[in-house]
Amino acid sequence: MTYDVVIVGAGQGGSSAAVLLRQNGFSGTIAIIGREAELPYERPPLSKDYMLGQKPFERLLIRPPDFWAEKGVEMILGAEVVALDAGARTVSLRDGRIVGFGDLIWSAGGDPRMLDCPGSELAGVHAIRDRANIDAILAELPCVERVAVIGGGYIGLEAAAALRAMGKDVTLLEVLPRVLARVAGPDLSAFFEAEHRRHGVDLRTGVGVVAFEGRDRIEGVRLTDETFVPAQLAIVGIGIVPAVAPLLAAGAEGGNGVHVDDHCRTSLSHVYAIGDCAAHANRFAEDAVIRLESVQNANDQAASAAKAIAGAPAPYVALPWFWSNQYDLRLQTVGISAQHDRTVLRGDPATRSFTVAYLRRGQLIALDCVNAVKDYAQGRKLVEAGAVIAPELLADASCPLKELANA
Ligand SMILES: Cc1cc2nc3c(=O)[nH]c(=O)nc-3n(C[C@H](O)[C@H](O)[C@H](O)COP(=O)(O)OP(=O)(O)OC[C@H]3O[C@@H](n4cnc5c(N)ncnc54)[C@H](O)[C@@H]3O)c2cc1C
Repeated sequence: MTYDVVIVGAGQGGSSAAVLLRQNGFSGTIAIIGREAELPYERPPLSKDYMLGQKPFERLLIRPPDFWAEKGVEMILGAEVVALDAGARTVSLRDGRIVGFGDLIWSAGGDPRMLDCPGSELAGVHAIRDRANIDAILAELPCVERVAVIGGGYIGLEAAAALRAMGKDVTLLEVLPRVLARVAGPDLSAFFEAEHRRHGVDLRTGVGVVAFEGRDRIEGVRLTDETFVPAQLAIVGIGIVPAVAPLLAAGAEGGNGVHVDDHCRTSLSHVYAIGDCAAHANRFAEDAVIRLESVQNANDQAASAAKAIAGAPAPYVALPWFWSNQYDLRLQTVGISAQHDRTVLRGDPATRSFTVAYLRRGQLIALDCVNAVKDYAQGRKLVEAGAVIAPELLADASCPLKELANA
């Protein structure tokens, strides 16, 4: 089995890469190798509408089932790549098959990070990364009253909101002093903490997990402050470990992800990497080498890799954006706020519609917009341009952002 392009990972980035190769006129053979049994599907609904039973799995599919054969994309599913031989240009599958490639696009995402504490292997302790995780949670939920969600990042918060909507008692545990600490400023964290508490979540920050306790399955969580939280189910949402072991073993540069240049090329020739596992210098983070875990990043890096392979290279310079839905709140974020030195609040969080603007040396570098679609739509260009806007003007929510472009 040899293909002109082999894509590892039948997820967001991998499926986009195949679509974009064809859209860029690539007529060679393409195969996608995916560990899961499913055709490529969107992950964002897993902690939102799919978990809530509001969207059936069929509507998560990135393309209709017939699409792939029509486009001449071979799907090798339920197959895990365990090794790469960059010199021979082959990958080995767990079942012993060997697949040759002209170019390889590695889009294997990441595996959920689990807690390394006693009881973490107990029945009832779950991750949220793929369809099987959610189906397992949904199957157990009818017998569950109390759930412990570990991790106050977007996925943990979304899961907590969905579980409250399903009538479960939810305790959310975050080891850092505030939720969303890695991705947003204190204003946004405080707002979401208050919203979750208002919806009945027992939200505790600054507290870690010592052990999951229970006999046959989890009965509760023991915390660093020595309290015990009863729970018949736990969800661990504490991030991912990039799935790059075969690449690193083959000699690719990296560590926390695999390093790629601005065309998504790894240090191994003919081997590209995209999506959650690709560590790249991002111009919206002052060229810091980072990984982004978002649909935008997976799709836009897929475009760069596809264009490079199709012979029309275009660097990855896309503006980062992301969204999260919790209760009736729609958060839209644009830019990367990590290196801000000042925040400006636009609007009043008490109205449940406001924006946090992040500045670095006077330049607008990111926006977190909560139920504020106009700010998001109008602010994107300002963030992209790194506009310099006086904080007092930004703070005036009665003045549309589009009017500040030349302020
Ligand atoms: C619950 C949840 C909610 C999310 N919500 C949002 C959101 O609201 N907005 C947003 O922008 N992003 C969201 N994301 C993130 C977004 O889904 C990811 O950033 C995106 O899917 C990354 O695409 P990817 O191709 O890098 O990885 P994935 O889509 O994860 O695809 C990787 C695939 O590779 C497979 N694989 C792994 N190792 C191997 C191997 N060795 N061989 C073969 N196959 C392998 C995996 O099984 C997986 O199917 C969410 C993610 C999750 C889990």
